Amino acid sequence: MCGVFGYIGHRSNAALLVFEGLKRLEYRGYDSWGVVVVGRGKIYVKKKTGKIGGATVDELPPGSLAIGHTRWATHGGVTEKNAHPHLDCTHTIAVIHNGIVENYESIQAELVHAGHRFVSETDTEIIAHLLEFYAHNMSFIEAFVKTFQRLEGLNAIVAIHHKERVLVAAKKGSPLVIGFGKKENFIASDPSALLPHTKEVYFLEDGQMAVLRDASVSVMESASQKVVKFSTQILDWDVSQTHKGEFHHFMLKEIYEQPQVVLGIAGSGGEEVKRIVSLIRKTKDLYFVGCGSASYACLAGAYLFSKIAQRRAHAIAGSEFLYHLDFINTKSVVVALSQSGETIDTLESVSYAKRKGAKIVALVNVLGSSLYRVADAKILIGAGPEKAVASTKAFIGKIAHLILLAYALDKRVKEGQELLRKSAEVIREVLAEKNSDRIKKLAHRICGVNHIFILGRGLSYSASLECAMKIKEISYIHAEGLAAGELKHGTLALVEKGTPCIVLLPNDETYAATLAGAMEIKARGGYIIGISPKKEGVFDEYLPIADVGDASMIPMVVTGQLLAYYLALERGLDPDMPRNLAKSVTVR
Ligand code: GLU
Repeated sequence: MCGVFGYIGHRSNAALLVFEGLKRLEYRGYDSWGVVVVGRGKIYVKKKTGKIGGATVDELPPGSLAIGHTRWATHGGVTEKNAHPHLDCTHTIAVIHNGIVENYESIQAELVHAGHRFVSETDTEIIAHLLEFYAHNMSFIEAFVKTFQRLEGLNAIVAIHHKERVLVAAKKGSPLVIGFGKKENFIASDPSALLPHTKEVYFLEDGQMAVLRDASVSVMESASQKVVKFSTQILDWDVSQTHKGEFHHFMLKEIYEQPQVVLGIAGSGGEEVKRIVSLIRKTKDLYFVGCGSASYACLAGAYLFSKIAQRRAHAIAGSEFLYHLDFINTKSVVVALSQSGETIDTLESVSYAKRKGAKIVALVNVLGSSLYRVADAKILIGAGPEKAVASTKAFIGKIAHLILLAYALDKRVKEGQELLRKSAEVIREVLAEKNSDRIKKLAHRICGVNHIFILGRGLSYSASLECAMKIKEISYIHAEGLAAGELKHGTLALVEKGTPCIVLLPNDETYAATLAGAMEIKARGGYIIGISPKKEGVFDEYLPIADVGDASMIPMVVTGQLLAYYLALERGLDPDMPRNLAKSVTVR
């Protein structure tokens, strides 16, 4: 969701540094942005609605303390006034905020009564005024502590004062990561934004606050102000991974990185996997939890564990997990899947489950993220930074790890690794020019439709959901993934002459039944697009994939990703930044 970036240090172009930081956070999805710099003893602000595009911050004066924000509006429309940073009445304090201040109305009423004037419709603005209110009688840092204690909900805030050479931050829920430089320090909502400056980071924990100065950082517990001894960690990502390189879009770049990601996973399966396998073997009560694409990976996990390792697992969407809590106990194991490791519904599920005594396993892409820290055992997905809002390589990475885990559970880890090596090859075939041209042409042909249906059974059902999600997210065409057998129980009514129906036909036990479904659609005029190792007469279009047994959903989903990408291009849309969506969803 929103992006936060702050700088304090020896360089005098802080506004530009922060602005560049915001550009690296653009991928998270936002609707307006703003930068504040302390220059010539005053606070200078620039705020704009819409994307950063070709904007600059050239008009802001030199200064070595600045904060900036990309906003994903929750309270108040998308206007310049509502964009962050927000200021107090005297324009001496500036605040950026991620989250929702749940009790903002009562605090606002109090502050209005005390004479404060509000200029925006946001919940955030009360933070600036509350800081101003408390700072009359105490130091800025003490005022910050008091202010943060008053806020209800899940919030991360960063504040500066025009006369104080500090940058103060605190969090509960939303992520904040501190970057350590030489005589300079940074703060951001996402570690990848720090990479051009430093790889040495500290992820602030919930209930902690930090005071950043030019050459030092102190961390305290926000309630007691007790000093926290912390150790930094070194990010294992490289700055070159955060550039588009030769690709037009991050999404395409990330799609093309998938063979490498899967190969990397094929080479894993060491000690941590063994530990997780032994945890899972001990339980009869296994859950997968995740949101969005990760929830489809969870569903795939349930099929894979059942098919390969004869293990029962429940797949539950993060936002629904709360309603299954009655069953969770000390014998349960919850495997939580998340790209960012900051998805709030997944984190809350994990914390409920922990409170009930369950063991937590994380399958997560960001080292040091909240999910990573909270888990009893963890696997890093190893997909590298994923910038496009629509997840591709992190999704395929999750599937590859789940395949390997299922094989490891069945004591056939080598077989699993071999299957993944083969899958990496097969992805390369999908991405080869001849094949991607075929997909491009298909996108051109069907880009004007209103509905696309995607059918599969078993594992291919979870693949159908993921393919539909990709199409919806970035091309805005209504796409629906369906368990093929369910079609005639309702949705078939929507199939008209020419309605594109993608049929996922892997060479497995689902083949004959799904093929029969394709026939039924064809009989009603549907336009059948087959993704399969075998060409069938019923297909109007054929997108070939090689047979990779239990891993067949990998090439199917990659085909769906490319189709979604080219559909977005055909419709003149930016696939990296779909409307209304954000990369990591940190509000409920
Ligand atoms: N609730 C705040 C607002 O609407 C913060 C939004 C965000 O996290 O970007 O301005």
